Amino acid sequence: MPVETFQFQAEINQLMSLIVNTFYTNKEVFLRELISNSSDALDKIRFASLTDKSVLDTGSELEIRLIPNKETKQLIVQDTGIGMTKTDLINNLGTIARSGTKAFMESLQAGGDISLIGQFGVGFYSAYLVANKVSVISKHNDDIQYVWESEAGGHFTIRPDEGESIGRGTKIVLDLKDDQTEYLEQRRLEDLVKKHSQFISYPIKLLVTKEVEKEVEDEEVVAEDDKAKSEVVVEDADESKKKTKKVKETTTNYETLNKTKPIWMRKPEEITREEYVEFYKSLNNDWEDHLAVKHFSVEGNLEFRAMLFVPRRAPFDMFETKRKKNNIKLYVRRVFIMDNCEELVPEWLSFIKGVVDSEDLPLNISRESLQQNQILKLISKNIVKKSIELFHEIAENKEDFKTFYEAFGKNLKFGIHEDSVNSQKLAELLRFHTTKSGDEMCSLRDYVTRMKEKQKGIYYITGVSRKAVETSPFVEGLKKRDYEVVFMVDPIDEYAVSQLKEFDEKPLICITKENLDLNLSDEEKEKVEEEKKSYSKLLKVIKDTLENRIDKVVVSNRIVESPVCITTGEFGWSATMERIVKSQALRPEGMSSYMISKKTLEINPNNKIIQELRRRVEIDEVDKTVKDLVWLLFETALLTSGFSMDDPAPFASRLYRMVSFGLSLDMSEPTVEPVSSEVPPLEADAAETSNMETVD
Ligand code: ADP
Repeated sequence: MPVETFQFQAEINQLMSLIVNTFYTNKEVFLRELISNSSDALDKIRFASLTDKSVLDTGSELEIRLIPNKETKQLIVQDTGIGMTKTDLINNLGTIARSGTKAFMESLQAGGDISLIGQFGVGFYSAYLVANKVSVISKHNDDIQYVWESEAGGHFTIRPDEGESIGRGTKIVLDLKDDQTEYLEQRRLEDLVKKHSQFISYPIKLLVTKEVEKEVEDEEVVAEDDKAKSEVVVEDADESKKKTKKVKETTTNYETLNKTKPIWMRKPEEITREEYVEFYKSLNNDWEDHLAVKHFSVEGNLEFRAMLFVPRRAPFDMFETKRKKNNIKLYVRRVFIMDNCEELVPEWLSFIKGVVDSEDLPLNISRESLQQNQILKLISKNIVKKSIELFHEIAENKEDFKTFYEAFGKNLKFGIHEDSVNSQKLAELLRFHTTKSGDEMCSLRDYVTRMKEKQKGIYYITGVSRKAVETSPFVEGLKKRDYEVVFMVDPIDEYAVSQLKEFDEKPLICITKENLDLNLSDEEKEKVEEEKKSYSKLLKVIKDTLENRIDKVVVSNRIVESPVCITTGEFGWSATMERIVKSQALRPEGMSSYMISKKTLEINPNNKIIQELRRRVEIDEVDKTVKDLVWLLFETALLTSGFSMDDPAPFASRLYRMVSFGLSLDMSEPTVEPVSSEVPPLEADAAETSNMETVD
């Protein structure tokens, strides 16, 4: 009988060592994980049987069995699921690491809970919390029966199993550690299944051993079968009267531990919060309860039931493209169809967990036909609608909403970008800091109620951080006029806002773009016109100096203190967007050259620096200091206006020159000797140097 030995993949090996050698309190999690794996395997065979009944020829009973054996100190978890072929055993249990393996170890090392193991897709290894040795006997319809075996320690073995045939499915034999024998106790197992696995949709049967007392005729006792291990107990010594005796007999039978009627078929008012919590946990391998749930049914042309849950935390891989989207399980008339049906919810809602049970879909629906399926499209539309309703319900409780928003705020913004039909409803849920919100974030609705009379729209600024936008020159002028400005500092805000365009019929106005209409009075407008004239020479000098680095130079009415700022075209990118695109490694070649924002330099006529520059150009149009300062102002404005600087070196050298000025140093003298100079040192210098050398 060939036995093959395999090494565990390095990360898996590390994870196993961590599981074996670290002290955890929640060891009981292993049972839920193994039962959950069995349930998945049963789902798979049931699904296969919808199109090919013969797959059940190897056994039509779909169930999970728990078999404790106190003598051998073994606990067996057995299912009649799909089973694993030899290749499956090698790949699934030890050689191919999931993306969650590393993430889970990091989570553990950061103090995360071992019971989250299932969420990271490595639940099987939790068996080593309680067992020294694990044997996995598995039989898949396409292969012979194999045994996988490991005592951890870096390797596992696989061999064909010539022992008792299991028909089909997987039998996991746990050799329990000496201090873990509580998992052989009937009560403990019953409680655990009730607590964590009661909503598994296959019967979970526990092998129960009972000792019963039985009165039997004397002769019968003698004839009793050895195997029953019965013990003769002589109850009564009065032999003259008695022909019967009492015996203790051991019987075994399977007891079903869970009710398998699907919870979503019951009426919401009859389900307790605890039941929802337990169902959610069993669905999501989550240890924490859910944040909110919506349980509803739709009747009429379209008929389905659904239970949607919002978790408290975002999954570790929320925005990873290769994420296994195990979100909503699709059932058709109580039969499980699949658990990552992407057509059921749009990507931005992929954090919603739950079940959908359709009355209308065909049972033999294939993955290929899902995409075109109209019924599914309608169901999906309803789920989106109900989910948004649910978010609005969460928003009624401040604490809950805060938890929700921290975890899924980005998804809402993503939703606004993706779903134009629902974008307004989603925008109601957004929260931002503003110039008037203080430390709490506020909604756009709050903003609208505070808008001033004749205010043109909702003013906002995008940037990298709250601090950066708060002190931005653009905010100055609006603050002075008592307009509130919304701070959008999440990169995704930029995308969301470009899709949203308005809220409550009020346009969203980016205050860093040109043509900002601040409702100026006639008097103010006149003043701007006058300033334009009085600054015309300086404007020209600036444009000539900066040439094609900017499109225009204008007199600003939006800045109060800063001397200059840089705005971008009304319909082009903002500074923040330009930064985002520049930082995207995969942007198409040459794209930024035509999409790059058109920049306008705005000068502040009330600023002393600007006034002094005007005075100087009036005297001398080609004043070199003015040119230098214009460059410095422009480059500083790039930074304060939220752009990134492509080439910081000239800026730095200009700045150093200014510093030297400040320190009254003469910049014409180099501070460092040139390394190789073609020009020989001046004679006087040379003499001085050699003198010094001789002195030394
Ligand atoms: P997950 O169940 O989250 O995928 P696990 O580490 O628990 O991760 O299991 C790894 C894989 O091993 C599963 O994806 C499945 O393919 C296989 N597996 C585990 N248990 C069983 C079982 N009882 N029957 C069939 N396959 C199983």
